[in-house]
Amino acid sequence: MPALILIDRPAIGMTGEGAAFRSLPVGTPVITATDLGVTRGDGIFETVAIHDGFVHAGEAHLQRFARSARMLDLPEPDLDVYRAALEAGIRELGPVPDAFAKYVLTRGEEYSGTPGARGFIHLDVNPAWSRERSTGVSVVTLSRGYARDIAETAPWLLQGAKTVSYAVNRSVLREAARRGADDVLFTTTDGYLLEGPTSSVVLRFGDTFVTTPPESGILPGTAQIDMLNLLQAEGFATQIRDVKLGELPYADALWMTNSQRLAAPVHTLDGTAVKVDSELTARINDQLLRRTR
Ligand code: PLP
Repeated sequence: MPALILIDRPAIGMTGEGAAFRSLPVGTPVITATDLGVTRGDGIFETVAIHDGFVHAGEAHLQRFARSARMLDLPEPDLDVYRAALEAGIRELGPVPDAFAKYVLTRGEEYSGTPGARGFIHLDVNPAWSRERSTGVSVVTLSRGYARDIAETAPWLLQGAKTVSYAVNRSVLREAARRGADDVLFTTTDGYLLEGPTSSVVLRFGDTFVTTPPESGILPGTAQIDMLNLLQAEGFATQIRDVKLGELPYADALWMTNSQRLAAPVHTLDGTAVKVDSELTARINDQLLRRTR
């Protein structure tokens, strides 16, 4: 059963009568036609995975939510309220083994004259994502149209914030489909790898595992860091560093990672087959599924 929680007081300092959030029948309209999140894409979100009632990397996601709010100069989200609302949503959802919650904070009403904010959480069972852990994905590289130093030179472009403006992140998937692929690996105009539209990238070179850094304007992924930490605990070398496009042909394997799909092995890159280590992939995903933070 899906669930919906409306957060009446999503930001620190918001006052009002009654509880800070409430459960509503799924499908209840919670956003008005003049909400800036809808009309301008001016808001932020997070998606967390829930396995057997447990939120994976829950605190890391909440902290990233607060980080996105700061980047957009939004009111500071009340993380205690979101934490409690999420727990209430999970109870509503019932005992499903594999689910997700998407929580949102928008800047609120455009014409209200007072700074506001609006929050809600939508929860449902996980769609087909988890299949990709074993089937793998085919990926194409596509330019994101800017250079590697974008976060430093033009921070107002908000690269690395998880905003609700994901139209580009969706359009690239349609472009990937036109090219016969499932997913996208963004590149910069000066030849570096970034991330996918909804995932991070982890590459293997020999016994060293590498992922790309948030300084290049990517979203700091929770699954990419947890995967690297698990590999490090197994004795592998790990690096968070810029990766040149020219290094791709030398990668022994690569994965697209996010909280829902976990580590999806890439079996085809720009039309060329890539070796998949199914045993390592299964082992890592098994451990990622047991994450407790
Ligand atoms: N990069 C982008 C642009 C994303 O949207 C996401 C997740 O949705 C990620 C990376 C991966 O983040 P996480 O591993 O925390 O799910």
